[in-house]
Amino acid sequence: MAHPAGDDDPFEDVREQASNPMGRLFIGYGRGYVSYFLVGVVTSIFARLLDLLPPVLLGIAIDSVFRDDVPFDARLPFSWLPEAWLPVTPEGKFWFTVGVIGLSFGSAAIFHWMRNWGWNSFAQKIQHDVRTDTYDEMQRLDMGFFADKQTGELMSILSNDVNRLERFLNEGMNGALRLGVMVLGIGGVLFALNWQLALVALLPVPLIAGFTYVFVQLIQPKYATVRSSVGTLNSRLENNLGGISVIKSANTEVYESERVEDVSMEYYDANWDAIRTRITFFPGLRLLAGIGFVITFTVGGLWVFRGAAPGPFSGTLQVGSFVTFILLTQRFIWPMAQFGQIINMYQRARASAERIFGLMDEPSKIPDDPEAPALEVTDGEVVFDSVTFGYEEESIVEALSFRAGTGDTVALVGPTGAGKSTALKLLLRMYDVDEGAIRIDGQDVREVSRSGLREHIGYVSQDTFLFYGTVMENISYGSQDATEGEIIEAAKAARAHKFIEELPDGYDTKVGERGVKLSGGQRQRVAIARAILADPEILILDEATSDVDTETEMLIQRSLQELTENRTTFAIAHRLSTVKDADTIVVLDEGKIVEKGTHEELLEADGLYANLWGVQAGEIEDLPETFVERARERLIDGEPVLED
Ligand code: ADP
Repeated sequence: MAHPAGDDDPFEDVREQASNPMGRLFIGYGRGYVSYFLVGVVTSIFARLLDLLPPVLLGIAIDSVFRDDVPFDARLPFSWLPEAWLPVTPEGKFWFTVGVIGLSFGSAAIFHWMRNWGWNSFAQKIQHDVRTDTYDEMQRLDMGFFADKQTGELMSILSNDVNRLERFLNEGMNGALRLGVMVLGIGGVLFALNWQLALVALLPVPLIAGFTYVFVQLIQPKYATVRSSVGTLNSRLENNLGGISVIKSANTEVYESERVEDVSMEYYDANWDAIRTRITFFPGLRLLAGIGFVITFTVGGLWVFRGAAPGPFSGTLQVGSFVTFILLTQRFIWPMAQFGQIINMYQRARASAERIFGLMDEPSKIPDDPEAPALEVTDGEVVFDSVTFGYEEESIVEALSFRAGTGDTVALVGPTGAGKSTALKLLLRMYDVDEGAIRIDGQDVREVSRSGLREHIGYVSQDTFLFYGTVMENISYGSQDATEGEIIEAAKAARAHKFIEELPDGYDTKVGERGVKLSGGQRQRVAIARAILADPEILILDEATSDVDTETEMLIQRSLQELTENRTTFAIAHRLSTVKDADTIVVLDEGKIVEKGTHEELLEADGLYANLWGVQAGEIEDLPETFVERARERLIDGEPVLED
């Protein structure tokens, strides 16, 4: 994770687009789960109220059962019951109270279970929906978006931010409700028992709320620093583990250990700063609560003790009521301490929701019209008509025009960075052309449905990505209906069958993350088998054989010949020997076509192609000086060879 999902994140542009994110969360996603929400709310209220019952009953037991100071039926909650239900003898009252206490504990347990079930179901279901929707929306975005954003940032939205919403929906909402019920419930009971002492007991409440609020304000920026240092630490570790072979071969273990130590120390410092504030808060809170307790205890105790109201108060206070007071005042503190946390959780959930909905709203630069017709390939003729395109302002390819007729093979050659891959990505509609058009059998690729387009085009690229799974699954990726026989046929055609057979579990061998257990050449052959199996009308081979040894390459070339014979093929290759039989060779340099023709014609013309051919054929001595000069410029001055 290059950047943690903090408030100081690189997704600011995305966040700003999302309006009313919490509303969308509750209305858009919560609507489907109102029943869980209601179960959560109602059972929470009951559970919390039942929690208040034992201290109240204890007060009643003291005043009305043991001391007989106050009539049993005058006390909450019994005053609401019909008189006929209430026992009359002291022992009857005692057992009645015991029964009610037992019942309240038992039913509270059931209500707490239901409350947790309701809130967790509500939060988990929304979490699942939000995550899958965000993934679906993100998957639709154009390649330009992914080139811009770090994978870690997107991962962090899909995991951290979505989890944070879940936390808020579960713990946050639960806490808020508990706070509300406790404040109203306890306040109500206290005022009903003795309003004067209630005022005294509630005196520290605004103070505690204010103290908590200040704490949250102080700690938040500290947590932001902690999060960003976690991000730095993680990206350092991720980078180092990914590049462990470079570290070992460059013998830079000591240097890297120091770098890790530095970022770990930053994390330590940031964390320690936050911890210092946090560990002061809770004792501070206890102190405030303690002061409140002492005041309530003093005023109430004197009142009970002297039998008459102290100071401006009037009336009497019973011991039992006093005990209830003391017990309930204690219950007040912790929900109040959560007050700040709930606000904090809400703010963080809101920031997460902004990022999530911002990502969902991100428009794809390559619109896919759901109404667009599917591509119909009849002859497989592909025409590039004055195509101009740039990733940013600057054009990478300019006014490209060439044509591939039915079954033709067109090779794109030229120096690195000339725009060969870019041109073919435009055909796949990974990006849209800025000017001109690409047409397949007369249909503009922008006017047909995207999935229809890609169904007809096979793509084998220079860096083959294998998904975690078996070799067989990787070959049939995209052709899920293929039979085992077809898969093996395709592997044979790609000259992959033999090495696959030799793997520990043959076709069922699991290839690791990114297929690391296979060599580059083996991976490429799996990718070629994948393309053969998909049997597309149009094929793109982007350096498809760059990673295989010359012998295998020759074998693959043969099978590729079979493969490409009846379909339109575009091949990018650095090794010109692999494309010399192409029907047309298009030579690109700095985004422009400099030459076009067959191998023989181009050798005849004696231009860039002839020079490149010469280099590969080992005739460096015979190259014109201007060519060597330009190559040097391109590699040394033009594109820095060493990047810092
Ligand atoms: P080739 O395939 O001929 O080696 P490419 O088409 O891969 O060349 O690249 C052409 C130019 O476009 C290069 O200068 C490269 O740096 C640039 N380029 C490639 N991909 C991107 C991208 N996603 N965003 C910005 N620039 C890119």
